[in-house]
Amino acid sequence: MMTLDEMSKVSECSVTGCAYNQADACHAGAVTIAGPAGQAGCATFIPLTIKGGFDQSAGAVGACQHLECTHNSDLECAAPAIQVGLRGSTSADCLTFAAV
Ligand code: SF4
Repeated sequence: MMTLDEMSKVSECSVTGCAYNQADACHAGAVTIAGPAGQAGCATFIPLTIKGGFDQSAGAVGACQHLECTHNSDLECAAPAIQVGLRGSTSADCLTFAAV
């Protein structure tokens, strides 16, 4: 089991239309990566005109539902950091997803 100190960071997110995004950085306290198999996306994405989240720039991955990713450990992300962007599968794709 991982500890909270080991939570993966969102090192970069290019989804500028998300309310949690400022200057390609995620400001959400903890994002959830979810979606159908093979379509790992940020379920915390929300397209609002306001900006929200915390002041610090590094969002973290609170949970990942993609057991078929090589980085998944007990439904958490064990990669040191992830990148989120637009690959065309979802509104905000996890670019670090790697199928087992
Ligand atoms: S990682 Fe998710 S919540 Fe954070 S800015 Fe990107 S789309 Fe928004």
